Amino acid sequence: MESIRFHVRKDDLVQVTAGKEKGKTGKVLKVFPKKNRVVVEKINFVKRHSRPSGKTRQGGIIQKEAPIHVSNVLLVCPKCNQGVRTGHRVLEDGKKFLECRKCGELMERK
Ligand SMILES: [Zn+2]
Repeated sequence: MESIRFHVRKDDLVQVTAGKEKGKTGKVLKVFPKKNRVVVEKINFVKRHSRPSGKTRQGGIIQKEAPIHVSNVLLVCPKCNQGVRTGHRVLEDGKKFLECRKCGELMERK
């Protein structure tokens, strides 16, 4: 078994692989490395009711993305155009890449 590691970063395009939004793609907005969670744009919206408070009489429903577990997302390979498993690859010149395990495409990691 491979241990969970952070294969995604902020601004990466990822695909959801589990849950009710399986198959959807979105951009990573935030990562929480200690919690192994990520927030993905427009994924896992939760509704929160806000109570009218103070001077404003308007309450309402706020929709916000809730974090999901990092093991439930895969990086989208630009070539495969879908979420793929990736491996790490460091070239001789020290440049770091993620390698698509499906097509072999290298995605540079700075
Ligand atoms: Zn690929």
